[in-house]
Amino acid sequence: MAIQQKVNKEALLRMETKLISMLDLKSQYESIKHEVEQALKEILETGHFVLGANVEKLEREIAEYHNVKHAVSLASGTDALHLSLRALGIKEGDEVITSPFTFIATAEAIAYVGATPVFADIDSTTFNIDPLKIREKITPRTRAIIPVHLFGLSADMKEIMDIAREHDLKVIEDCAQAFGAKYNGMPVGSIGDTGCFSFYPSKNLGAYGDGGIMITNITDIYEKVRLLRNHGTTAPYKHNFIGYNSRLDEIQAAILRIKLRRIDEYNRRRGELARLYTSLVSNVVQCPAELSDRIHVYHQYTIRSLRRREIENALHDNHISSVVYYPVPLHLQEAFKYLGYKEGDFPESESSSREVLSLPIYPELEERNVRFIAETILNTFR
Ligand SMILES: *Cc1c(COP(=O)(O)O)cnc(C)c1O
Repeated sequence: MAIQQKVNKEALLRMETKLISMLDLKSQYESIKHEVEQALKEILETGHFVLGANVEKLEREIAEYHNVKHAVSLASGTDALHLSLRALGIKEGDEVITSPFTFIATAEAIAYVGATPVFADIDSTTFNIDPLKIREKITPRTRAIIPVHLFGLSADMKEIMDIAREHDLKVIEDCAQAFGAKYNGMPVGSIGDTGCFSFYPSKNLGAYGDGGIMITNITDIYEKVRLLRNHGTTAPYKHNFIGYNSRLDEIQAAILRIKLRRIDEYNRRRGELARLYTSLVSNVVQCPAELSDRIHVYHQYTIRSLRRREIENALHDNHISSVVYYPVPLHLQEAFKYLGYKEGDFPESESSSREVLSLPIYPELEERNVRFIAETILNTFR
C-alpha cells in the first residue's frame, strides 16, 4: 500500500513537470522567498496589519511609478473601478460606455453604481474598444468611458481622450491586465481621470491574495476614494457618508513592494517571450499587435485562428495549457440579459470569442517551452 502510494505520487510528479501551465507562481516565489519571508516576519512581529507603513509606502511608490499625484490601495481591482465611478459621481440614469470583450468586473462596476453599461465593439487586431464605435454609442445620458487595456496592450487613448473632451465625459482606465504598459510614453492609468489596477495573484503585478489600487491626478477624487474605502471615516468613529470596507492589508502591500521593484524586468521578459512566439507562429495564426506607439506587457499572449479547436486539442494532447479569454462576450452573458442585447450586436467581439486562444506566458517560462508550444501549433498546420 505504502509503495503503491509512493509510485502514484511519483507518476503524478512526472505529469506535473511535463505539463506547461498558464502560470507558475511557485518558481517566482522561490526567487523572492528571502525578501518575502523577511517582510512577513517583520509584519507579524509588529502586529500592525491594516492601513500601516507598507500600504502608505506602496501607494507612494505606485504613484511615483506612474508619475501621478495620488494612489489609493483597495481590496480589489473591481473596487478600484466601482469606487472610481462612485467618486466621479456616476449614478442611476447615467450611461457608461465600455467593451463587451473583457472580464465581467469592468461592466459589473458600472451596474454597482446603478448606471447602465453600454457596449461598443472592439478592434479585431488589438481586441480593444474601437473609438469609432464609441462615437456611435454616445447619447445625452453618456457620462463616462471605461477603456480596458486588454491582455496588456493599451487601448487607443488619444482617440478616446479626444472623444471624452468633445463630449465632456469621464475616462476610467481599466488597467487590471496592464501594469507597466505604455501609450505614447505614458504609463496606462495616468492618462484618464482614474486608472484602476488589480493585484489578483495572476496579474502582472500580483499579490498573494486579492488587492487593487486606483491612481489619479485629481485630488478631490483621491480624497473621496480614500474615505470610501474605509467606511467614510473622516475622524475616528466619525462618518460623513456611507462607505465600504475596501482596504489592502499590510502583508499584501509588503509583498507587492518587493515585486514592484522587479515589475519592469518581469514585463521585459514577457515581451521577449512574446516576440519569440510571434517569430515562430505568425505565419499560421494571428499574433498580438505590436504597435509603435505602445508598450505591450503581455498579461496574455493571445493568438487568433479559425482552427482554434484543433490547436487547443493539439496543445492539450501535449500537456500544454491554454485558455480562451473570453468565451462569451458580456452582452451575451445571462447577468446582462436585462440590457437587451442579442447575438450579432457586436460581430468583432463575437468572432474574437470564437477564435482567440491564450498561450502560457510568464517571466519564468523557459524559451525551450515556448519553442515546444510553437512547434505543437505548427504541427497542426502541417
Ligand atoms: C482582473 C480584472 C478585473 C478585476 O480585478 P479584481 O482584482 O479581480 O477584482 C477587472 N478588469 C479586468 C479586465 C480584469 O482582468
